[in-house]
Amino acid sequence: MKLILLGPPGAGKGTQAKRLEEAHGLVQLSTGDMLRAAVAAGTEIGKIAEGIMARGELVPNDVVVGIISERIEQPDAAKGYILDGFPRNVAQAEALDEMLAGKGTTLDAVVELGVDDGILLKRIETRAAETVGGPRADDNAEALAKRLTVYHEQTAPLIAYYKAKGKLKTVDGMKDMDEVTRQIEAVLGISKKEGNWLSRLTGKK
Ligand code: ADP
Repeated sequence: MKLILLGPPGAGKGTQAKRLEEAHGLVQLSTGDMLRAAVAAGTEIGKIAEGIMARGELVPNDVVVGIISERIEQPDAAKGYILDGFPRNVAQAEALDEMLAGKGTTLDAVVELGVDDGILLKRIETRAAETVGGPRADDNAEALAKRLTVYHEQTAPLIAYYKAKGKLKTVDGMKDMDEVTRQIEAVLGISKKEGNWLSRLTGKK
């Protein structure tokens, strides 16, 4: 299964992606994590991305499209993946469609986590305070305001883009984490209960 988790910064995409990874054997592919790793390692990509990320702006499309097209070729991605933080604008979404069409495949679903801006600010303040080793360079009021603006201007249009393709599923990202997980599994038809019931019938997992 190939999925996108879509939602504003602090919506809980990373948390939910990790849960799906553990429960359903999908791989989480987070462009934010990959870029932070590149910054930490001081690679060429890291040098390009560092200042842009700290300001809450978007890294150039060709950089992230290049990272993702290499990453989905890795053997562990063959069984399915969850894209977290990619695509972030329509040009990236079109590049992804082309990439997948080139491999003779397509996305299964795009899950939108709906969350109000007011809640996001609080969540990110909490995350900044709780992060071991200090907050992320972009978890401060100024960068967050920029990330939210960028989300509304560039990423939110993807909701209509995927709706038009019949791929969009929306869940309430303001519920508690377990409930959000349950809703995601329900819209994808991969709830644990159903899995057990099916596996009892078919003998397969
Ligand atoms: P959040 O989900 O909190 O917005 P991420 O970890 O997904 O944070 O991304 C952090 C930063 O990394 C972004 O603000 C942006 O600078 C950069 N980034 C991540 N993914 C992309 C992408 N697909 N395109 C451009 N920039 C990206």
